[in-house]
Amino acid sequence: MTFQSVLPAHSAGIAANYLRNLQRRDFVAGAALIDGCWVAGGQRDPVVDPATGEEIADVAHCSSADMELAIAAAERAFPGWRELLPAKRGEILRSWARLMLHHSEELAVLITSEQGKPLAEARHEIAYGAGFLEWFAAEGERAYGETIPSHKAANLLQVRMQPIGVTAAITPWNFPVAMITRKAGAALAAGCPMIVKPAPETPLSALAVARLAEEAGVPRGVLQVLVGNPVELSAPLLRDPRTRALSFTGSTHVGRLLLEGAAATVKKVSLELGGHAPFLVFDDVNLGKAVKGAMAAKFATSGQDCLAANRIYVQRGVYDAFVEAFAAAIVRLKVGHGLDPATEIGPMTRLSVANKCRLQIDDARTKGARIVSAKPDGGLGPNFVAPTLLSDVSEDMLIAQEETFGPVAAVLAFDSEDEAVARANASEMGLAGYVYTDSLRRALRLSEQLEYGMLGINTASFTGPPIPFGGWKQSGLGREGSRHGLAEYMEQKYVCFGDLAA
Ligand code: NAD
Repeated sequence: MTFQSVLPAHSAGIAANYLRNLQRRDFVAGAALIDGCWVAGGQRDPVVDPATGEEIADVAHCSSADMELAIAAAERAFPGWRELLPAKRGEILRSWARLMLHHSEELAVLITSEQGKPLAEARHEIAYGAGFLEWFAAEGERAYGETIPSHKAANLLQVRMQPIGVTAAITPWNFPVAMITRKAGAALAAGCPMIVKPAPETPLSALAVARLAEEAGVPRGVLQVLVGNPVELSAPLLRDPRTRALSFTGSTHVGRLLLEGAAATVKKVSLELGGHAPFLVFDDVNLGKAVKGAMAAKFATSGQDCLAANRIYVQRGVYDAFVEAFAAAIVRLKVGHGLDPATEIGPMTRLSVANKCRLQIDDARTKGARIVSAKPDGGLGPNFVAPTLLSDVSEDMLIAQEETFGPVAAVLAFDSEDEAVARANASEMGLAGYVYTDSLRRALRLSEQLEYGMLGINTASFTGPPIPFGGWKQSGLGREGSRHGLAEYMEQKYVCFGDLAA
């Protein structure tokens, strides 16, 4: 179905009005999925439109006892799911992906209503998220082991890949659908049940994709979604030895806590954590392309993206020209409600993120940065941050030292390539980096020297199901997507067949 803008942008009630018009009423029922049952619960938590602050729905508040039931249900579901042929599991995952694409418009409205991103980006997230299901549907059939040339006579050495058991996912609010399918696609393809705890800000999208999973034929207990207090719900997952693997996407701070909690039962932990991406622009480059890349790398998802360019280093010879062209593009960005088709920058999902942006801008202003801001239309709420360019940024400013996670771009000048590499690498984060240069030699040198898990050379768009998504240093552990993503949910088993001589 196609939605038209039914109310003027920024009007009160716009998201609630869209949700009322959904054909799939069950998408807004707000029931948790535990052991194949949709549980409405006694206690309910509000879901809020971050653009207006209005309550648009409510969802079941699950308790730690509910989580214990879910772990037991997943343990029961494991043998049946594991025994299914990988091709059959793949069929179910493909059918789930098709249902997501079929309901793309309604899912996109849910994402925009609770997360805030522009509708076009929400639609893109559905396609991106469904892509992981399709990818892993096929990848599950390629969970090859190895046969190792034996070091002992008359022995056969094999390595098998087997599903690890019950798995759990704790997911963030910035990609409320894709961060679920990137994890659940891999876990389910590997033969593992998964329990998902989505971010409290964005439960509706998570519960809607779980409904589609059920319709696609994912059996009872194989995928469960519980919403509620993060600490209460993660405690049983961490404590219970039956949860064999935990995959988390979110802040480095919470990632550390979960890693510590998982240590007691030595779980396999995958962490996709914060970023602080450097974006290097050299003076040999076509500036138009570099500015276009910087706009995409900074302002996608309204800046609330772990891949967001956080430190834009520009070589001195092209610095002024870059800043001028970048500022001109930034002030043209249209800020508004994500359900207004003209909107390019929506609200911050969390007020704390908007406040952090304002703090970084104030800090940079006091320390001498120059500031250019887009003018948002009047009447926008406290979660909105005007797209802002900070130039003449120095390394002592907060924005150069910590992830922003909002539409504020920091531009810093550099002189030499060595200096740029050293400054880019001077961070405990190591998720993604970008380089814009026309020199092939330089591109090859930097692709070796930059200490990041993912690099875009002359591109700001490089994610997708086939690539190993993940970070170095304190940006994480493990990889998602690609053939490596499947291995996060599998154990290797080495088997030695001895005494085979006739
Ligand atoms: P967050 O860490 O606050 O929350 C992430 C998830 O953890 C949510 O489900 C939340 O409810 C839960 N959580 C929060 N506190 C918890 C606790 N004490 N115990 C257990 N669970 C807890 O992060 P966020 O603000 O939702 O997401 C933003 C961060 O995520 C940014 O730093 C961003 O860079 C990072 N991120 C990383 C990637 C990646 O792939 N590397 C992708 C998206 C976002």
